[in-house]
Amino acid sequence: MGSVVLSIDAELGWGHHDFDTPPSNRVEAGRTGWSRLVALLDEFEVPATWAIVGHLFLEECDGRHADHPSPSGWFDRERKQWRSRPDLRFGQELIEAVRAASVDHEIGSHSFTHVVFDERATSRNLARAEIEESLDAAKNFGLDLQSFVFPRNVVGHRDLLAEYGFQCYRGQSPINRDNSFMPRRLRRLLRGVRPNDESLLVEPTMDGYGLVNVPASMFLYSFEGQLRDILAPVIGDLMVRQAKRGIDLAARRDGLFHVWLHPNNLHRAYTVVRLRRILAYLAERRDAGDITIETMDEVADRVRSAGTLEAGSNTSNGQ
Ligand SMILES: [Zn+2]
Ligand SMILES: [Zn+2]
Repeated sequence: MGSVVLSIDAELGWGHHDFDTPPSNRVEAGRTGWSRLVALLDEFEVPATWAIVGHLFLEECDGRHADHPSPSGWFDRERKQWRSRPDLRFGQELIEAVRAASVDHEIGSHSFTHVVFDERATSRNLARAEIEESLDAAKNFGLDLQSFVFPRNVVGHRDLLAEYGFQCYRGQSPINRDNSFMPRRLRRLLRGVRPNDESLLVEPTMDGYGLVNVPASMFLYSFEGQLRDILAPVIGDLMVRQAKRGIDLAARRDGLFHVWLHPNNLHRAYTVVRLRRILAYLAERRDAGDITIETMDEVADRVRSAGTLEAGSNTSNGQ
């Protein structure tokens, strides 16, 4: 049976703390979006993988992070402008809400302070610290993390993830791997109007480090801004149409459709309506027995055991 995965990059202020001017609409929507998302997923009984920035597990900090090999200025926002904004730097009660939800969510990692794992710009030492501190923070919360979502989807230092016991990560969407010269926004628009079926379904695979790559199919808020506002009254919500198509394709072809979002994407009325419509459709197809909903670690387990079975059957065939 085909399946759908929903992953959530949960970061509050950390997703934008290194911006010269953090987008205030997104930053200020992080908490309400988070609570709304927990409620919506409960309403439609949809489990998700919450990839949470490790710093949010802390109860408090003095902003020093003396043992963290961060580049100079990395904690400036926390130490200065957001010093009196614990609501952007910590999130224990929000993490508790995810754990207390009636559906069984997975909690994974989105690094410790949203360092981008670009191997040219980020040293192994820094990546290691981000992984270690996120695992330690979660462990203090009684959690053992299996899934990793790379900040800004820049995949790197995978050997370290394997070394620290992660089982899987979210790889890049086939849409982002497209190297055409067309502007990305226009490409997304054209795909919305005439989706390319092949880029909606993804294939989870085991990489050379023994990690399962669970690639993203699409970001639910990739077509936003003025162009969306102008076109929406005329052509409707392209992302809803595309998500329904992905769900249908996964059901029909026994494939995997993997969507993702941030809680802070729920900052305008239409963004909530969009998610509600997609979740309602997904729940309808699930309730009809057409599709299952999985978390990233469940996909990893499935790929891992299929790999084992395959190896076993190959051996017996050879005997
Ligand atoms: Zn701190
Ligand atoms: Zn992020």
